[in-house]
Amino acid sequence: MSLPAANMATTPVPSRVNILGLSRAALEAEVTALGLPKFRAQQLWRWVWRHGVTSFDEMSDLGKPVRDQFAELFTADRPAVSRRLQSVDGTIKWLLRFADGNEAESVYIPDKDRGTLCISSQVGCTLTCSFCHTGTQKLVRNLTVDEICGQVLLAMDELADWPAGKPDRRLTNIVLMGMGEPLFNYENVAEAIRIVMCGEGVALSKRRITLSTSGVVPEIKRCGDDLGVNLAISLHAVRDELRNELVPINRKYPLAELIEACRNYPGLSNARRITWEYVMLDGVNDSDEDCRALLRLIKGIPSKLNLIPFNPWPGSPYVCSSEDRINAFANRVMKAGYASPVRTPRGRDILAACGQLKSASERDRRQKTGVANRPTSSA
Ligand code: SAH
Ligand code: SF4
Repeated sequence: MSLPAANMATTPVPSRVNILGLSRAALEAEVTALGLPKFRAQQLWRWVWRHGVTSFDEMSDLGKPVRDQFAELFTADRPAVSRRLQSVDGTIKWLLRFADGNEAESVYIPDKDRGTLCISSQVGCTLTCSFCHTGTQKLVRNLTVDEICGQVLLAMDELADWPAGKPDRRLTNIVLMGMGEPLFNYENVAEAIRIVMCGEGVALSKRRITLSTSGVVPEIKRCGDDLGVNLAISLHAVRDELRNELVPINRKYPLAELIEACRNYPGLSNARRITWEYVMLDGVNDSDEDCRALLRLIKGIPSKLNLIPFNPWPGSPYVCSSEDRINAFANRVMKAGYASPVRTPRGRDILAACGQLKSASERDRRQKTGVANRPTSSA
């Protein structure tokens, strides 16, 4: 007969450490603290990061007592999948749920010669860019290292991309362009990037990782110095007055400071350029004069332009520029020597605009539970 709950032992079970959040050095410290030799950490690392193994029982070169010990203390759990949508164009979008119930999104975008995973760095975003849906979500916290790395591993699981580094890998590039401002969560983002760059694991080189920022100027230099990843800047406007409105962090770090930090980004060369992201908003930032001013602003900086057709969301205050206008803008940019700048919209049928899937799911849940919709803020 089972005991009533009140009589059950009350000793709390210590929670296990998710080793997806541990650097190589931190994992070695955990393992040697158990009285085990360092090479056990190396074996564990390779199982987790090279082979994508989540069950300690599968780690065949570890003896049973060590496997049991690890299983008692550690996990290599990925975030749970709350929703998964696949577009007709092959794009996959996951709404992920973390242990505390918070959610964030990641998106896999396959192309002919590459497969890019777009990952989130925060739940929501403290910034309130007026065209971005994530900026309207109130709840914000930083993602932990294991939550950031977990997005990569989950995608690799679903893409059957193990062992990491095989020649036909499907996940070839990572962009930090999901929810959140990565440079507001610098320490965790940097640790996660170092882990996925490790040659004995996922082994993606810094040239295949792009971090996008709205312009947190004081963090830009160390991002280049410490990580050396590609830098993308959410520019979107070339006059302070307009950028203050579209990307409000501009009030704190205006264009002149941002451009200076980019000009000095460590390691910049013609082979390693800044990507300027520029969302095309009808009648707002898409005139010929805007384009000329844009080209003046970035002159002399090794640059790529990325013109992004605005992806509307329910209640969004903007309209995407017409195709003709985008093409005229793009032609002007190309004449100035920058190649192929328009981003093809992907996964439009699966709410691929940043933050949209999460909001749609919350709406569905509120409707199911009878709670009224919160009005969508356009701030
Ligand atoms: N916070 C970072 C990274 C996440 S946003 C940043 O702002 O750079 C990734 C890119 O998507 C940014 O360039 C952002 O401006 C753009 N974006 C956000 N909402 C969009 C929308 N509705 N349509 C098109 N691009 C959008
Ligand atoms: Fe945050 Fe980037 Fe969206 Fe701005 S564009 S609200 S910084 S996620």
